[in-house]
Amino acid sequence: MRIDIVSIFPEYLDPLRLSLVGKAVDAGLVNLGVHDLRSFAHDRHRTVDDTPYGGGPGMVMSPVPWGEALDQIAGAHPGERIDGGTMTGGGVRPLLVVPTPSGERFTQSVAQQWSDEPWLVLACGRYEGIDTRVIEHYAGRSDWAGVREVSVGDYVLAGGEAAALVIVEAVVRLIPGVLGNAASVADDSFAAGSMERLLEGPVYTKPAEWRGIDVPEILMSGHHGRIAAWRAEQAHARTREHRPDLLG
Ligand code: SAM
Repeated sequence: MRIDIVSIFPEYLDPLRLSLVGKAVDAGLVNLGVHDLRSFAHDRHRTVDDTPYGGGPGMVMSPVPWGEALDQIAGAHPGERIDGGTMTGGGVRPLLVVPTPSGERFTQSVAQQWSDEPWLVLACGRYEGIDTRVIEHYAGRSDWAGVREVSVGDYVLAGGEAAALVIVEAVVRLIPGVLGNAASVADDSFAAGSMERLLEGPVYTKPAEWRGIDVPEILMSGHHGRIAAWRAEQAHARTREHRPDLLG
């Protein structure tokens, strides 16, 4: 998979060189590019924003540098089989991902879908967001795979970079070969299948007793069937307590 991220704070994305995503990049499972939006501005101050039409507080990101940045990123890889050659009939088209609090909710199921995409381009907004014509334009372009505006939660961040870190990590850990033990994904909260509308229950490791608190005996019984049933029961109890909305 190829992932490109455009931001006015490219250093904000440095943590992607660490840990799981960093290892996936080193292993060649992910081809990651981070781009500075300001390098697509043409004035002395490298301006990327302007006052909003209709008035009001704050600034809006101009469509001009965004258009140049996105065209250059997409054009830099014409027809390249960046996903290892599984695409047929021409080039791979990038999917434009725009983090925004006014987008659809970014969920585990969206992360799962995107882990199969050959190419994601994330556009990190700042200020009052990106001029809406950028979304309109790339949604209509046949050389792009579409545009998805996604929110990582019902709160407002200062910029799209923290959301991009969340999205990239959630997607990359689902790419086959990234996690050492693929089975652990299936047991996760929100995992497709029996966990789709459930939170994972409590987990324990050694020692068996810590500060007067014992590990539940069932987990040391070696009885796999009873342990699975206990875990399912705990998952339901935790979901009822923390996220009753998931149970409907
Ligand atoms: N005025 C916008 C609104 O109310 O919808 C908020 C703009 S916010 C200060 C600046 C940028 O942060 C957004 O363009 C987006 O990139 C990012 N952002 C903020 N909250 C987000 C969230 N919950 N999910 C995804 N991105 C978010």
